[in-house]
Amino acid sequence: MMGRANLRTATVLALFAGVLTLNSASAACRNTGSFPQWLEQARREALAQGISPVTLAAATPYMTFDQATISKDRGQGVFTQTFLQFSDRMVASYRLQRGAALIQTHAAIFSRIEKQYGVPAPVIVAFWGLETDFGANIGNLPTLRSVTTLAFDCRRPELFRKELFNALRIIQRGDLAPSQMIGPWAGELGQFQFLPSHYYDYAVDFDGDGRRDLLHSVPDALASAANLLANHGWQRGQPWLREVRVPASMPWEQADLAIQQPHSQWARWGVTLSDGRPLPPDSVPASLILPMGRNGPAFLAYPNFKAYLEWNQSLVYSTTAAYFATRLNGAPAAHRGNGPVPVLSAGQIRELQQQLTRLGYKIGEVDGKLGLATRAAVKAVQIKLGVPADSYPTPDLAERVRALR
Ligand code: CA
Repeated sequence: MMGRANLRTATVLALFAGVLTLNSASAACRNTGSFPQWLEQARREALAQGISPVTLAAATPYMTFDQATISKDRGQGVFTQTFLQFSDRMVASYRLQRGAALIQTHAAIFSRIEKQYGVPAPVIVAFWGLETDFGANIGNLPTLRSVTTLAFDCRRPELFRKELFNALRIIQRGDLAPSQMIGPWAGELGQFQFLPSHYYDYAVDFDGDGRRDLLHSVPDALASAANLLANHGWQRGQPWLREVRVPASMPWEQADLAIQQPHSQWARWGVTLSDGRPLPPDSVPASLILPMGRNGPAFLAYPNFKAYLEWNQSLVYSTTAAYFATRLNGAPAAHRGNGPVPVLSAGQIRELQQQLTRLGYKIGEVDGKLGLATRAAVKAVQIKLGVPADSYPTPDLAERVRALR
């Protein structure tokens, strides 16, 4: 899952929000081998893995090298968006209207899908909107060329070798012809931008024509997204996200995806529904998430939210997708918080990551991204400094961390 999650983060954000950088070691790798020799060896391995000679013969004309793919992979800049910036764009009013209309248009299909997989229409439609603007932007580059090139490339060869072989299995299974496999430069396919491995594992034929076609068949695409979420642990009939209000007296260190508390405990701390009414006094577990810290929007994330993080490990993406689904489900627009929230640039986050690393905190890669590991390290250093531990770094915190010895 992590491989896909990393890739999903990479491409989705490259397309929409752009939070990606390369670590210096991998960016510096060089392709020194011969592509024709590599291809011959990859073809032999494909045959050994059960890809038929007929499939391989059909695919081979498309298994070419493309320098532009590598340039795109290397050339992505780092820029970050906050939850409000990203969700303002992604959950714009035209998307809410289009999403609601599509739920109506495909009501019969969504009803069958929910019966079979337990995933409600707004959840699926929100991902549909974020991934491809409801199928409008699925990409137009040859997928086999992309995954062949990235499997040859030195940066992530094992990951994309697996994607290449699974792309060949999709052809062998009769789902798509090689010429039909088109998408963005990083190899995702279809209306929900599945990588070939997930296409192979989770795509379903829901229109009954015998082929799993996530590019052209809306029923296949929608049901496959539901099947993927069900396999990520989606629980039928359970909530996924709810906006809440939090008091200034909140024990902020409780706001952590790793911590779950029952509604009754959140209520004791003064957390309410977004309109001020009390939370239901039950034992339903939830985590408090503050994607922009204690002065920004606040949400309770329920166990189903884990399926979002499996889809995309970025908290900003996941919270936006889940929030979009609540809006399609009738929730009002989220409150924008208690005032302007200071935002660190990617360069400032990178410097903070270097400082945290210097102090012995584990932040994963120094990449300029405010990922979950960096947020956890921020929380730890906030606790050390005795400041509100909301896991969200401010310029003031960065300065105090720089001064730590
Ligand atoms: Ca089909």
